Amino acid sequence: MNRPISIGVSACLLGHRVRHDGDHRLQPTIKDDLEELFQLQPICPEVESGMGVPRTPIQLVETRYGVRALEIQDPGKDYTQKLGQVAKDWVCANPAICGLILKSKSPSCGLGSTKIFNQAGEISAATGYGVFAQTVRDLLPGIPYIDEIQFSDQQARIQFIHAVQHYHSASNSMDI
Ligand code: SF4
Repeated sequence: MNRPISIGVSACLLGHRVRHDGDHRLQPTIKDDLEELFQLQPICPEVESGMGVPRTPIQLVETRYGVRALEIQDPGKDYTQKLGQVAKDWVCANPAICGLILKSKSPSCGLGSTKIFNQAGEISAATGYGVFAQTVRDLLPGIPYIDEIQFSDQQARIQFIHAVQHYHSASNSMDI
């Protein structure tokens, strides 16, 4: 079966005002370069988790239960499970997804660039993946992904496009 090639994109990068402060982080290159090639599927995991706009920001915190996504002002509010569930539901609802362009440094969307804090509020030496990004990668091993900073590099952008096309062909051949 021939499916359109869909890629998931952090909604704030497509100009949706979904950030915690009600703003967006539009990256015109993503739309300009990819709109004709792929179907762009916007997703904001925090809005889908019911956190609303505007909202109190969250951050990744190393705890005795592992890295958790906790509200900054009230660390008793733990969004890890909700964000993970959003990722699972999103993967089930979007079986044609063949790539991800996600917002760097976000506790939900970050792809290895997100700061991790200790419980005293100090930055740990490590950076990690946002909860949504990590869960989708676990569910779809091998899916091509890139953040908006990497996407601004022409060579990385071209490699990503080829990887998405290859991933799509490989998934289609498995459907036969
Ligand atoms: S980085 Fe992710 S969670 Fe944050 S506003 Fe953008 S899409 Fe939403």
